[in-house]
Amino acid sequence: MQNPLLKPFNTPFGTAPFTEIKEEHFLPAFEQAIVEAKENIQKIESSTDAPTFDNTIVALEHCSDLLGKISSIFFNLNSAETNDEIQKIAQEVSPKLSGLRNDILLNEKLFDKVKAVYDQKEQLTLSTEDSKLLEKSYSDFALNGAALDTEKKEQLRNVDLELSKLSLTFGEHVLAATNAYEMVVDNEADLKGLPDAIKEAASMTAKEKGKEGKWVFTLQYPSYIPFMTYAENQSLREELFRAFGSRCFDGGDNDNQEIVQKLVRLRNEKAQLLGFENYADYVLEKRMAPSPQAVVDFLNDLQQKARPAAEKEVEDVIAYAKANGAEEVQRWDWAFWSEKLKKERFDIDDEALKPYFKLENVLNGVFDVSNKLYGLNFKERTDIQKYHEDVMTYEVTDENGRLISVFYADFFPREGKRGGAWMTSFRGQSFVEGEEQRPHVSIVCNFTKPTETKPSLLTFNEVTTLFHEFGHALHGMLAEGKYESLTGTSVYWDFVELPSQVLENWCYERETLDLFAKHYETGEAIPQEMIDKIKASSTFLEGYQTLRQVSFGLLDMGYHRLADGVVDNVADFEKEAMDSTSLNAMAKVEGVNMSVAFSHIFQGGYAAGYYSYKWAEVLDADAFELFKEKGIFDKATADSFKENVLSRGGIEDPMVLYKRFRGQEPKVDALLRRAGLLN
Ligand SMILES: [Zn+2]
Repeated sequence: MQNPLLKPFNTPFGTAPFTEIKEEHFLPAFEQAIVEAKENIQKIESSTDAPTFDNTIVALEHCSDLLGKISSIFFNLNSAETNDEIQKIAQEVSPKLSGLRNDILLNEKLFDKVKAVYDQKEQLTLSTEDSKLLEKSYSDFALNGAALDTEKKEQLRNVDLELSKLSLTFGEHVLAATNAYEMVVDNEADLKGLPDAIKEAASMTAKEKGKEGKWVFTLQYPSYIPFMTYAENQSLREELFRAFGSRCFDGGDNDNQEIVQKLVRLRNEKAQLLGFENYADYVLEKRMAPSPQAVVDFLNDLQQKARPAAEKEVEDVIAYAKANGAEEVQRWDWAFWSEKLKKERFDIDDEALKPYFKLENVLNGVFDVSNKLYGLNFKERTDIQKYHEDVMTYEVTDENGRLISVFYADFFPREGKRGGAWMTSFRGQSFVEGEEQRPHVSIVCNFTKPTETKPSLLTFNEVTTLFHEFGHALHGMLAEGKYESLTGTSVYWDFVELPSQVLENWCYERETLDLFAKHYETGEAIPQEMIDKIKASSTFLEGYQTLRQVSFGLLDMGYHRLADGVVDNVADFEKEAMDSTSLNAMAKVEGVNMSVAFSHIFQGGYAAGYYSYKWAEVLDADAFELFKEKGIFDKATADSFKENVLSRGGIEDPMVLYKRFRGQEPKVDALLRRAGLLN
């Protein structure tokens, strides 16, 4: 029998034939697709025709279409329905894929052709979309060092190699230091304040570690956070806090100070090799934020405006703690007392809210919202093949009956699915040989499964998660473009969370909740008082949190804007970079350090990008303010958002798109107003 991955998909809408695909089909399919991609590249490279936009840039865009199709099916399964076999294939295939990528981006002949087209850019009178593709294609090569001479190329390759090793070691150290610590509690009285489930988990951990009858707490978040939040024993909180904050900072085997210094220096070297002043400059080349200075200005502006509220919040928590018998409030007391104050002020009971959020109702609610905003209709289809019986499949059309997308929803946890929630696609939107391919979009979550007697009831947090992922899905579904690499969620990193975060705003509006938030047994609408509480509690300690996020953003920018990349002393550097955001009412603690465990920027991909969390919030608040002004279901505003943001993907610069929608550049004020930080 022929490999189903290598045949045209003879299925409704050309969806993936999951029932036919078996694990053993993947490796041969990958191998053939890689060969095909290499042949396509060879064809472009060896062509004797003068390089043109079509025979070079468009051909490159499509050179690995088959590989893309197989990869998205495979890697989506590896996230949502994996097993040992699939994981083994992933291990085998991943280096081959990065090898192919390097074969392309380091191919000099190919780059010469791309450059030849790029150099005629002005004479070519390309459309906006075509010239964006050309620009992207050129810069993918250039940012990978294709324009450098042989010696510098070699240097860059060494720096890259060293950087990836150092990042790995950094992460291994954080993990090892996290796992090396445990706090053993013998006396049940020391657990006072902790919820039963947390105590149980700690007793299980103790059992696993051969300490039956005791309780063990670790530095992993599910253990650390509840202990800091609920445990009444202050000295144990201090012990755990100090252990957490001094990970990789003790001069031992897992110390990361030297690695931080090396990483910063090498990143600087890389940026300078590629012709940038510093690493932040290099990263921001492909971001919505215009420059490192603009990011720093943005963070400082935010900090200045959030500071009065933050100071007031800290005073409130301290006053509350003292009124309740505390003598002092140290850093290890903060989570504990602020949680108590939050409970007193809002007293939101997740369990009491859940009956209003039956999963089916919430899903229909988000469908209704997208119908009111964008005219979309969702029809369940039972003839689309699925990779698991829990997955639901829909045909999505617009008001004229035009097919917009296929939509998959996969809601419940199971073995083989990773944690968290995400949006992905099995096929992006594009034109292939003149024929349009509408996208196949999916959201994957881990919500509570229904039982025989109870439907799946969501917490409010899960409701906003569903809206968030659905916002990403709309970005994918409503795409209108020619090239997959420029459509849907293929946008700059600090722009990609706008569609998702903006949709979360609808969850807090009475008009939206009226559509779906009804008690699953009585049909009663969610009481206004509950909505008010949810709203108010969502901005609790927002000033303080803002200052904290700003301080991380400034630290990140500090490291990556250094002209020479030299950090003499990690502790001093951190102190200075974060100094402007500190609050006098909170005493500093010696012996702890953030940088050495700041995995986002030294292990993950957030280097010179930590600011994007706040940046995206500013965008979504600013965008939603226009909806609030015109009406949250105002058709003209929704049309404009669809036209200028959701359908345009990365076809144009995000700032250009945003301004076309909003009429001006984003301002931080809407976020501050929403958070109650501005009067
Ligand atoms: Zn997101």
